[in-house]
Amino acid sequence: MSAAPQAVLRDCRETPVLRERGQREVFCGLTGIVWLHRKMQDAFFLVVGSRTCAHLIQSAAGVMIFAEPRFGTAILTDRDLAGIADANDELDRVCATLLERRPDITTLFLVGSCPSEVIKLDLAKAAERLNGRFLPRVRVLSYSGSGIETTFTQGEDNALRALVPSLPRSEERQLLVVGCLADVVEDQFRRCFDALGIGPVRFLPARRAADLPAVGPGTLLLAAQPFVGETVRALVARGARLLASPYPFGAEGTTAWLTTAAQSFGVPAERVRTVLAPLEERARASLARYRDVLAGRRLFLMPDSQLELPLARFLNREMGMELVEVGTPYLDRMMVGEELPLLPAGVTLSEGQDVERQLERVRAAQPDITVCGLGLANPLEAEGLTTKWSIELVFTPIHGYDQCGDLAEVFARPLDRRRRLAL
Ligand code: SF4
Repeated sequence: MSAAPQAVLRDCRETPVLRERGQREVFCGLTGIVWLHRKMQDAFFLVVGSRTCAHLIQSAAGVMIFAEPRFGTAILTDRDLAGIADANDELDRVCATLLERRPDITTLFLVGSCPSEVIKLDLAKAAERLNGRFLPRVRVLSYSGSGIETTFTQGEDNALRALVPSLPRSEERQLLVVGCLADVVEDQFRRCFDALGIGPVRFLPARRAADLPAVGPGTLLLAAQPFVGETVRALVARGARLLASPYPFGAEGTTAWLTTAAQSFGVPAERVRTVLAPLEERARASLARYRDVLAGRRLFLMPDSQLELPLARFLNREMGMELVEVGTPYLDRMMVGEELPLLPAGVTLSEGQDVERQLERVRAAQPDITVCGLGLANPLEAEGLTTKWSIELVFTPIHGYDQCGDLAEVFARPLDRRRRLAL
């Protein structure tokens, strides 16, 4: 484990949190479809929304040119919005046409949006009705991806939460990793768990949405993403137990995360060391070349992805960055309780947003790099500040030992670009 470069021995568990409840600048939960549709290859995400929703998802996800699309939008027209047409009839017709044409779909997510919520279109009821028609060939589920009171990573949490009631029950002792991981990362972790003798290990979501992991009192949960709190709560209600841990970002976080699982499965400490030490060493070596760029640089994280706390811990402890402010949309202590003690005491922690006030703090602090949403990045760049889009951290594989260098590079690249522009 590395020493904290801010040379503070106390931690920030007791640091007062600045709570702000003003205007927010965040993407909506529809964005989660971008990475979920890549992961669950037999699922389809049908957004029930407006043309704006269709544009958002289409421009964020791009076009799949080699395969049938795995997402689409059922556009609510003026007649639906005015209550002249029965949106339920129309939705049933669209789903029937889609499922008839696409026998590869085993799970259909109806994804609610701001417009569908405003007209109070009950997608849970629609899913129930459609299940009566299409089960067992296709399971229809619903969740909200709307931007009303949510942040963009909650889309994934809502989608996974929707799967929980369908999971079969099992008493078996098993590890369930919760949170969407790129396949390459899932494979790396599977190899680590195998080498440690931990098993069986299952992942939620699985590559095929139809491969539902079982859950029950023998299930130990290891969260791979800090934003899957509602899914974890639903799994705990079904008897599972959460293993609290720092997240697998950076060499230190990855070792802590795997060690948490190993200890719960009674793996001897010597075996944990033997398996993980060479992997950790290689990961630290991959970080070394970015440390020169990042050490001593001042970082401001605006609240957006809910990855802010673990990333701040990694960038401070392993890369030597100084934390100006660590903002998070929600401070869910059940999910990030193990990260708090690893942050330096005295750091400004903020929850929620009052965007104008926060921008004033950014301007006053003049950080070397600001991590923020897309909408804020360009104006800040125009003011001469260096930024990083937080959404990139969800699109890029950044978990685990082998991705450590890529994670550090995500932050080093904009600083390097700024340096070159200044030459
Ligand atoms: S769900 Fe709401 S915030 Fe998201 S694209 Fe549609 S209208 Fe906009």
